[in-house]
Amino acid sequence: MSAHSSEVKVFVRTRPTACFAQDLIEYLPDKQTVNVRHRRESRKGVVNNQMSSWSFKLDGVMHNMSQEEVYQSVAHSVVLRALEGYNGTIMCFGQTGAGKTYTMTGATESYQQRGIIPRALQEVFYEVEQRVDHTFSVFLSFLEIYNETLVDLLASIKRGRAVQGGALTIVEDPGGGVSVKGLTLHPVHNEEEAFNLLFEGEMNRIIGEHALNKNSSRSHCIFTIHIESRSRTLSDEPYVTSKLNLVDLAGSERLSKTGSEGQVQREALYINRSLSFLEQAIIALTDLRREHVPFRQSKLTHSLKDSLGGNCNTVLVANIYGEAAQIEETLSTLRFATRMKCVRTQPSINEHIDPALQVRRLQKEIQLLKQELSLHDTLANRAVVPNESLSDRQVDEIKSQVQRYLAGTLDEITIVSIRQIQEMFTQFKKAVQEQEQKVKEQLSQKYSLVEKSENSIQSSTAAAAKEPVGAVGAVGAVGEVESGFGLGLAAPSQKHTQASSLNKSKGKKIKENSRKDVAQTSGPAEGVTVNQRETDALTPNCEPEDLEAPPVDQEEHKKKIDSPPCKFEAFEDFKLGRGSEINRILKENKGVLLERMDQLHKLTQAINSCKRDIDHMSSELQLCREQRQSQGQFVGEKGEPVLEEAELILLVGLREKKDQYRQSYEELLSTKAEVRYCQHLVDQCRIRLLTEFESWYNESFLLPEEVQTIFSEGGPIRPGLIPVDKALNLEADEQEQFQRLRTELLAEGPSAVSFYNAHNRTVQRRQQANSSQS
Ligand code: ADP
Ligand code: MG
Repeated sequence: MSAHSSEVKVFVRTRPTACFAQDLIEYLPDKQTVNVRHRRESRKGVVNNQMSSWSFKLDGVMHNMSQEEVYQSVAHSVVLRALEGYNGTIMCFGQTGAGKTYTMTGATESYQQRGIIPRALQEVFYEVEQRVDHTFSVFLSFLEIYNETLVDLLASIKRGRAVQGGALTIVEDPGGGVSVKGLTLHPVHNEEEAFNLLFEGEMNRIIGEHALNKNSSRSHCIFTIHIESRSRTLSDEPYVTSKLNLVDLAGSERLSKTGSEGQVQREALYINRSLSFLEQAIIALTDLRREHVPFRQSKLTHSLKDSLGGNCNTVLVANIYGEAAQIEETLSTLRFATRMKCVRTQPSINEHIDPALQVRRLQKEIQLLKQELSLHDTLANRAVVPNESLSDRQVDEIKSQVQRYLAGTLDEITIVSIRQIQEMFTQFKKAVQEQEQKVKEQLSQKYSLVEKSENSIQSSTAAAAKEPVGAVGAVGAVGEVESGFGLGLAAPSQKHTQASSLNKSKGKKIKENSRKDVAQTSGPAEGVTVNQRETDALTPNCEPEDLEAPPVDQEEHKKKIDSPPCKFEAFEDFKLGRGSEINRILKENKGVLLERMDQLHKLTQAINSCKRDIDHMSSELQLCREQRQSQGQFVGEKGEPVLEEAELILLVGLREKKDQYRQSYEELLSTKAEVRYCQHLVDQCRIRLLTEFESWYNESFLLPEEVQTIFSEGGPIRPGLIPVDKALNLEADEQEQFQRLRTELLAEGPSAVSFYNAHNRTVQRRQQANSSQS
């Protein structure tokens, strides 16, 4: 199913207050813009930012809005899309007491003031009843993340089925989604059953809350509605599933402001850390150059992975106070909200096909296609071609045809069937691979290659230590195997012997025809210049700075500096640790490459100087000849022409120089080839070092150890859930209040009845549980 990109929708909601800071917070008539002014004196004289006013553009400002209006703006469309198979996430973020729980759950004792979750449940069941052509299954789960510990808030209700047993852990599905292993999923068939579970979970949460802090919830809560829908009419249509996450985040206030200590301080530390990880994840998500998003740094970001960067319709409600005293928190909440607005998600329908159904459908299709094919054969007067797989004998026959075709003894191969063509390609591929292997072997023989696999690196290192390059006198070229690269030491090189024997035979020819030779000064002896481009190509990119750091641009490095570990330092560590072996080989290879290049340079100089000598001697010889011609030719006793001694010395000297020139020229060519080959290996070593570093870095960065230890240190144990007396007293009060409200508000409609029924039942359950304990 194709996905379209969509931005996270962000709303701001102010908690109603009698002293709204009109001079500091301004809502523009477009209902999307909030301007905040911040008086400097409120920062106790510390001025750390020149700006004193900010403007935030969001998707909507909800000021003095009822719960129903909030639901319609924020959640209505996400809920409808969830019924079509799109995942949805609605999150409330903000300072403690700013109204997150009020927005998400609402007041459980008042139907009118119920929040997004009860309204979403009502809408889901209303739609389920309307959409008669589909069957729906609805399941609920309620997860709490308290001090980095996952808690199943519905574990007390026995009916649910766990997503695999065992301790609660976040697992990633192959499709990129996340789920919590061990969390119970409770089937629900109507809104009253759903309210029952919501209130039960809230009650468990509230009791924890009262045991710790009377005013606020200290945990993140994720209430999830899981929906599955199948068509009643089309049996082989894919079925769709979706998850609607309704997230009430813990308060984002600063430690210094609350002045909290002990247990509460430790909680605040966990909350701050997980919220700052949430912010880091969001910053990474909005930076398109970042490949890695650190979702696994905290349970919160990990469990919201598919809601933040996945295929989800995501909405954030930023809850703020409208009061001057809270203006700094308001600012930081609005900054978080605008950052979140830049995150893009790819909403797409979660379609699934029943595998058994899929197999049946494909079998049917194959049958139809076979029939169609034989129909075509019949119409084209062709013998019916078998479509079954080829036998071994047929494969052998095709192989032999391909070999004969390549050898030229077979002109063409007659095409019979698709399977035959496919087999032919397979055989061609094998032939090419064999050929490549042969060429590689030949090359390695020619360049005295010494193979160095990763396992044999040590032994060859030892060998290298015994026979230093200089001592042997001839460095064999280069050994390269897929798993490792190394420059090997060859037995004394063959090429000198080859070159000298070549020159010897050439020398013979020179002797035979010295005159011709003299006339040939414009032959190969043209002087050698190593052309600039070639030199550039051959120069190893091995300046120290190039090799000491991975290709991270400085700018990017600066940006990443706050997300450990620093890549430059990590690369240094890597070269000393896991990458030390490949780094050592790289250095060795560079050493040999530089030595070869030095040799190339010296050869070039020697050849050029030789050429100058040849030119000089040739012109002198020419002078001698001209003189001889003007003065007349000397002849011997028998009348044979005789050369003067000076001319003879020049002639012999010139011949020797030319020999030397040819020899050096041969050597130059072969050194050039070696340099090219060495360069190639150095490049490959470098690439390999960097790629291994990258993957090592990514692995280590994905699961930074310090994060694991932070969360295991001291064990974030959830304190005892049930301080019995407090719970009993509270619930007795509440029950009395509900009974009163129930009679007063029955007029609110049938849904209100199930809302109150569910609430009362939860209270009763709690009382029964408490009395059986005492
Ligand atoms: P949070 O969950 O952010 O810590 P709460 O939702 O618990 O905050 O809100 C704190 C108090 O403020 C509650 O008593 C709640 O009823 C009240 N409150 C918050 N927002 C509103 C609102 N929009 N209208 C009425 N009361 C609100
Ligand atoms: Mg709350």
